[in-house]
Amino acid sequence: MKIANDCVVGIHYSLKSPKGELIDSSEGQDPLVFLFGRGALVPGMEKALADKAVGDKFNLVITPEEGYGVRDENLVQTVEKDKFQGVDNIEEGMFLEVDTEVGPMIVVVTAIAGNDITLDGNHPLAGQELHFDVEVVEVRDASAEELEHGHAHGPGGHHH
Ligand code: ZN
Repeated sequence: MKIANDCVVGIHYSLKSPKGELIDSSEGQDPLVFLFGRGALVPGMEKALADKAVGDKFNLVITPEEGYGVRDENLVQTVEKDKFQGVDNIEEGMFLEVDTEVGPMIVVVTAIAGNDITLDGNHPLAGQELHFDVEVVEVRDASAEELEHGHAHGPGGHHH
């Protein structure tokens, strides 16, 4: 069975930076299981998986445009520390949820200088080329319930 929209797909993967540093991997865990064609994965990955079958292994380089997007410098802002009353010990590298005009957003603290805190709302992998090793380990029809929920169930998928 080949991968097509609305089937459930399981993959093992490792993700590396262009320099070969390991960023993420499913090794030693359940495969990543998801409902195909619903935007669960970055566009470059969904495109590459179409028509693949169980046992297929491949390498994939995904551009930022087809991955987590290009960096948007408008998402970098400097905010006064006083605005974060109730949040103790703000440190560089910390993730915070902030309210914005477009709703809550996860940002990372990239710099602290005196009372000024620099926040970056870009995805941590925005602007990065993604180097994947992928192995397809499962392809099956989605159940009616999975289609209704818009995600895969079972090991590696959603649990209710
Ligand atoms: Zn569900």
